[in-house]
Amino acid sequence: MERYFWHLNAEQADGMACVVCGANFLTAKITAVPVGRNPADESQVFVCKEPCAGKIADDTERMARAMRAAATGTANAVDVDDMAECENGVFCVDGHFGSLLRDLKTLSGTEALLTTSDETSTLRFLLSLTARHAETAMMRARLVLARLKTEEPKEGEE
Ligand SMILES: [Zn+2]
Repeated sequence: MERYFWHLNAEQADGMACVVCGANFLTAKITAVPVGRNPADESQVFVCKEPCAGKIADDTERMARAMRAAATGTANAVDVDDMAECENGVFCVDGHFGSLLRDLKTLSGTEALLTTSDETSTLRFLLSLTARHAETAMMRARLVLARLKTEEPKEGEE
């Protein structure tokens, strides 16, 4: 399934937590099922098999009905809004800037954990998390930077 999920926190974006209820799959014994992707980096995101997967299915049916209504001209244009939201806003919370801040927050969080943990499995997990977020942070920083450069007025212009 290629549905996008927005407004994800760092754990949800990493596939470590349910994108519906926020339950952490690492600490809670929950079966996770893939449900779609994080629009920021196309990585897979998950929900609890019970009951959140059912909620997503209901939600999807509701959206399908809304789309059908829109196609037949009977829509009252609800529900579609949150999908179009923030499409061009590089500085809105869900834009690259928001994602970048989230990466940096995760990195500073892993820094704190790295200094206190000495278990190899934990270290391995933290290091792969660091690598992933450092990489996306670099890409996002460059995207925001590129956007800022194109928006800057040229020298000599008043
Ligand atoms: Zn859940």
